[in-house]
Amino acid sequence: SFIAFDGPNGVGKSSAMKTVAEALGSSGRDVVVTREPGGTKLAEELRGLLLDPSHPMDTTTQLLIFNAARRSHILDVIRPNVEAGRIVLCDRFISSSLVFQTLKPDGGPDLSVDEVLDAHRRYCFNEMPDLTVYLHAPHEVRAQRIAHRAGAPVDRFEEYDDAFDRAAADRFALCGALLRSPYAMIDASPAADEVAAACLRVVEGHLAG
Ligand code: C5P
Repeated sequence: SFIAFDGPNGVGKSSAMKTVAEALGSSGRDVVVTREPGGTKLAEELRGLLLDPSHPMDTTTQLLIFNAARRSHILDVIRPNVEAGRIVLCDRFISSSLVFQTLKPDGGPDLSVDEVLDAHRRYCFNEMPDLTVYLHAPHEVRAQRIAHRAGAPVDRFEEYDDAFDRAAADRFALCGALLRSPYAMIDASPAADEVAAACLRVVEGHLAG
């Protein structure tokens, strides 16, 4: 089973996913945890280029690199593990591209949702998660969580402002319907253990079929 966790920055995806992975692992499931962009040696290197603000690149260049990274990730990690019967938990997937690659805060040419979906069809096999877990929380909650994050360097995408962040969160709320692929919305405002428990319930529900 291929399960993506997605949502705006600071919502707590990565820590909820980690707790879900540990819980599934201790109930005897074979779990693989991975992330986008990244997950293979090549894609992790592409991630480094994407996040490094010292490489100027427009949104289309970003989209091309995201797709190259995702294709490598699908071929070398996601598919082989799903085929081997493992549960693949992925931190971000196509929804993040639908949101972030269509939102440009500086007035340059935006990419459309269709362009993002078209690239996904052409280069990434239109691969969809069996389930996407969307975490959502108000801007203020997420801003506070980001402020408490220790020591991570600012990446290209984190230079954007509050208005950008609110627009991104609004778009995440629409992704599930847009992708026409199974999804669950989780309120990520409560404490981390409560959020992780809610995520685990929907994942278990999905796995039980
Ligand atoms: O949350 P994570 O650290 O994995 O994301 C790295 C950065 O890449 C974030 O700032 C996120 O907004 C951005 N990103 C993006 N488009 C994607 C995936 C991630 O702009 N498709």
